[in-house]
Order: sequence, then C-alpha cells, then structure tokens
Amino acid sequence: MSTHHAIIHGAPQPRLAELHSHLGASVAPSILWSIAHDQGMKLPTKDFWEFEKMVVIKEPFREGQGVRRLDEKYYKLCELIQSSPTPLFNAVRGVIGGAYRANNIVVHELRFNPAKRNRAGERDLDYIIISVINGMERAVLEFPAVSAGVIIEFDRNFNYQLNTTLYEKACKYQGRGIIGIDIAGPQNNAFHIEEYVDLLVDAKRRGFGVTIHTGEEGGRMDEMNTVVEKICPQRIGHGILAARDKKLMAKMVERGIALELCPTSNLNIGIFANWAELRKTYRALYDAGVVLTVNTDGPEMHNTNLNRELQLLQENGVFTAPEIEQIVANAFQVTFVKSNEPNIP
Ligand SMILES: [Zn+2]
Repeated sequence: MSTHHAIIHGAPQPRLAELHSHLGASVAPSILWSIAHDQGMKLPTKDFWEFEKMVVIKEPFREGQGVRRLDEKYYKLCELIQSSPTPLFNAVRGVIGGAYRANNIVVHELRFNPAKRNRAGERDLDYIIISVINGMERAVLEFPAVSAGVIIEFDRNFNYQLNTTLYEKACKYQGRGIIGIDIAGPQNNAFHIEEYVDLLVDAKRRGFGVTIHTGEEGGRMDEMNTVVEKICPQRIGHGILAARDKKLMAKMVERGIALELCPTSNLNIGIFANWAELRKTYRALYDAGVVLTVNTDGPEMHNTNLNRELQLLQENGVFTAPEIEQIVANAFQVTFVKSNEPNIP
C-alpha cells in the first residue's frame, strides 16, 4: 500500500487547516536538538539518532502491535527543552512555518499549557505566553499565506485555582493571539468537569473558542455528556466514544459541536486495535452527521503530518475522496482563527 501519492493529484497541495496540535508534540527533533544545545542542556544522550528515537514514535503503526506511547519522561523532556522564552519563540516559529512549507497548512491552531513551560514557576507565565505569541507572529510575517492562533490548555491534574490563573492569562492576551481554551490531561478522579462549567461558558461569552479533550478513552461517557449538555463547546478533542451513543451524536449535530479526530494518535495510543475498528467508529460519527475534522495531535511525536493522515484515512477505506474534501473544508468552517482575517476562505 503506497503512502506516497497525494490525495488530490497535481500541485499545489490542497490548503489545509490544523486545529488540534500540541506544541510539545509538534517540534521537529532537529529543532529540539538545537534549542537544547543552545541552552547548554544536559540531554540523556549525546547521539542525535538516539535522541530522535526518544522523542518520536518512530515505527509506523502496524496491526497487533499494541500501545505505542512516548515514554512519559521523554514527553516531559520535549516540554522541558522548550520551556524558556527564546526556545519557545523558535519552536513556535519553526512549527508554523514548517507546517506551511511541508503541508500547505494555512490555518494553524497550536495549543499548549503555559504552566507546564515555566519550570515549576521559575519562569514568568507572561514571558512564556508572549514568546509563543511572538513566535507565531514571526511565522505569519514570514509566510503571509498563513493565519494562526494559540489555544491555552488547562490540565486535569491542576487544581481549579491554577487553571483559573491560566484563564486570566488567556483573557489578558485575547485579541493578541490567544483564541481558545482547552482542557487536556489524562482522566483523574480529583477532576470534576462540573466545576468548570461556569468558567467555560464565560469563555464562550467572551468570544473564545472552547474545545475539550473528552470521550477519548476509558469509557467516561458521563463527562462527555456533561460537556455537550452544560458547556456546549464549539469543538471537542477526539470525542470518539460518542459513536456508541446515538442520542449524544444527535445532540452534537443539533448543537453544531465539531470533533477534532486524530487517527494515528488513536492507533498509537491503542484506542483502536486496527484500522477496521477505527473505520467503524469514524464512519458511525460521519454517518450520524457529526461535523468532523482531521488533525495530527502533534505531527512530530506521532511521526506523521496532516496530508498523511488524510491519505491514510482514504487508503484504509475510512472516507472517500469527496468525503475527505468535505472534512478538510469543515476545519476552515470551525476554526477559532477569526474569519475576518484575510486568509480564511
Ligand atoms: Zn490532544
């Protein structure tokens, strides 16, 4: 099975919008390597290729392979390398420019958690956020075809107070590049989505885009139901568990809540054992009329890119070429990057 032909034949490549990409998983190993060295960081290896194996899930997905996650300590290493103002500027600039050059990504939303980038309070949150915004501005200046925005992530492992501090920062920098709010991080019994309903409804009222990682794994339908019922975000990260629940899908269609699907990430993490399982779920969502978008979750860590994700979906019979075109168009419709910016169709 060839993965080398483009979906739409002939140049130029289709214009794409990436809506779900974590900064920590989006920086090329070569850039991580040089910014680590710029700071004189002591890395776990002096060999670049060994380093690359630590920060990238290198082998393509094969059925029956089981779960393939990046070792938690190496994911933290990726974040740590980028956790100062100058490296963040360079990382963001490289991610947005690189995605445009390689994949014609002209609408780019990047998400990150500033409080995971300040070396446990050593660096000031405002400097961290401004560095990311400046890196984005520089990329857009270098590649004027691109529009971009930054989503601030809350974390399920943070307490309410720390997440609220992040919200205050998001509000402070709204209109200067911060376009949305997300909740990320693995399920955690101390975390209750109900506590965040008022805050996220307020975020929508202020004009933020709201997206929440939910319904990804672990059968937590209760949380996804609460998200749809009480918060009604414009988008949900993954949300694939909804495929089991016709009522929930109908509610999402009625409320126009879009899903951010990330196929290779789902396979790597072991949410689906194979393409057949993935196909069944994605088709159920599509056939129910849920607005779908396709994203990478972090192309470098998952060793993929947005064009490749779209190709894989087509090659594995998940979506037809016209369906893929519709899904690509959906992303331009549901992006949080404001439609009054000149590059949004
Ligand atoms: Zn994600």
